Amino acid sequence: MMRPMKYCQHCAGPITRQIPPGDDKPRDCCLQCDVVFYQNPNNIVGTLPVYEDRVLLCRRAIEPRLGKWTLPAGFMENGESTLEGAIRETAEEAGATVLAPDCQLYTLFNLPTINQVYLFFLTQLRSTDFNPGPESLEVALFREEDIPWDEIAFTVVRVSLEQYFRDRKQFLFPVRMFDLRYDEQRTLGVTLISHSHQKEW
Ligand SMILES: [Zn+2]
Repeated sequence: MMRPMKYCQHCAGPITRQIPPGDDKPRDCCLQCDVVFYQNPNNIVGTLPVYEDRVLLCRRAIEPRLGKWTLPAGFMENGESTLEGAIRETAEEAGATVLAPDCQLYTLFNLPTINQVYLFFLTQLRSTDFNPGPESLEVALFREEDIPWDEIAFTVVRVSLEQYFRDRKQFLFPVRMFDLRYDEQRTLGVTLISHSHQKEW
């Protein structure tokens, strides 16, 4: 989210919200240091881990959506790739080991209303060796008929799971990109923007 800064991170002086020369949007500026602090969308990366006919979900131990089920995902850190971040988050939240060659890019979500981009990799688990990390109450594998659809934490997770169970019938898993936008009633609309050529997996 765009939250105005209060103090300059270099000199701890006051931040001025203004449009810098040559720019067209208001930014957080320190006039003393003559620097502009740009805020850009955050990337959230995760996996959709599959073991035989089941998918792995984590029950959230933290807000927002405490107690709801989600795929392992979190904010990318500086210095890592999207896949490295997704593998790290899967280890942290689910205690599951995921190997890069077992992963493929699967769903990408643009959420311009809240300045986020979500990216999920489809991955095969090699074992049922997992356990909840500090951000998860429990971690479990679910068959399609057992997915707690009413207890899914986020729309991006629900849509990714729906795609997976649909694609699985054809054994084809194309990469899809969606836009998620809130309308005036605060209802979230999901629009498929593009999908890759069919990809066997
Ligand atoms: Zn400063």
